[in-house]
Amino acid sequence: MSLTLTVDGDRWRAHLRRLAESTPGLVPVAKGNGYGFTIGRLARRTQWLADHDLGGDVLAVGTYDELEQAADRCAASLLVLTPWRPNGPAVHPDLAPRVIHTVGRPEDLEALLAQDPRARFVLEQLTSMLRHGMGPAQLRETGRLLAGTARPGRLEGVAMHLPLAAGDHLPEVHRLMNELVAAGLDTDTVWVSHLLPSELTALRAAYPDFRIRPRVGTSLWLGDRGALRVTARVLDVHPVARGQRFGYRGRRAPRSGHLLVVSGGTSHGLGLVAPTGDRALRARASALARGGLDAVGVARSPFIVDGAPRVFAEPPHMQASMIFLPDGCSVPAVGDEVEVRVRFTTTLFDRIVVE
Ligand SMILES: *Cc1c(COP(=O)(O)O)cnc(C)c1O
Repeated sequence: MSLTLTVDGDRWRAHLRRLAESTPGLVPVAKGNGYGFTIGRLARRTQWLADHDLGGDVLAVGTYDELEQAADRCAASLLVLTPWRPNGPAVHPDLAPRVIHTVGRPEDLEALLAQDPRARFVLEQLTSMLRHGMGPAQLRETGRLLAGTARPGRLEGVAMHLPLAAGDHLPEVHRLMNELVAAGLDTDTVWVSHLLPSELTALRAAYPDFRIRPRVGTSLWLGDRGALRVTARVLDVHPVARGQRFGYRGRRAPRSGHLLVVSGGTSHGLGLVAPTGDRALRARASALARGGLDAVGVARSPFIVDGAPRVFAEPPHMQASMIFLPDGCSVPAVGDEVEVRVRFTTTLFDRIVVE
């Protein structure tokens, strides 16, 4: 009994096509759970983009460990977003010509080239995110290093991973572009993340000699939510009286109604607290302090029954959840489907059906 993602194939593909057509240089990103679709499926879809002349020459994965899931399913070059480190997993020699490494420190570039003098790589610039990358002095040092080495590998560009601050990235991008030019690097390609379409347009206009390559996951794969439907099955239905005990912990029903056992639990990633972009740190801390889901009748579940989200009757089980439906609602039957509102990046589906 499954948690199922049903994709309206025509509508999804039409969105992918529209986004690819309006985003020159697009680099699809497939990492983690593959935005709910799995990395393998997104790699096949990247090949579909290539087959339809919609780009798809490079696919970005998150980590070296993810390369294997993507490699056999598309012919694209594979950009690894996590910076290369000397102690990381080795790339299989057969795959090495397709891999583009991200390098975030001058000493890593020296070590990478010592290992593979033909390595393809992008240099990551440190942005206001303060995640990975080189500041201006390190970038200049790297420029000197590349100019002075006989076997400099293949510099494929410079990468900027910007925060999600919608709409005001341009001053920072201009500063980073100046740092890039000052470093004297022999490249005209800039890989960017999280720029709005209007910012990309402004950037292309300001730097017409550069090739801008936007790395896009969410707004590509999940950009048309109307094409995606998530459903669970009602596995059992039990009437309960107010105060009646139920569940692993012998809790009492808060009022009379029905307990529904539905497919989908912690193994699917349901009911886990994931930070959402708009939540304050304080709110996140208090959610953690509550132990996630402890007060019956308080923790809202992602299951929609009779038109509204229902509360968890107790914390979700591994593959199923108990939810509480108060009296007065229309009660589904065993075997009915219910809609589930999930975070796609934290959900593992049992089945993915592309219609
Ligand atoms: C995940 C990731 C992206 C894609 O982010 P979305 O918000 O899903 O488009 C782009 N760049 C980098 C460096 C990433 O790690």
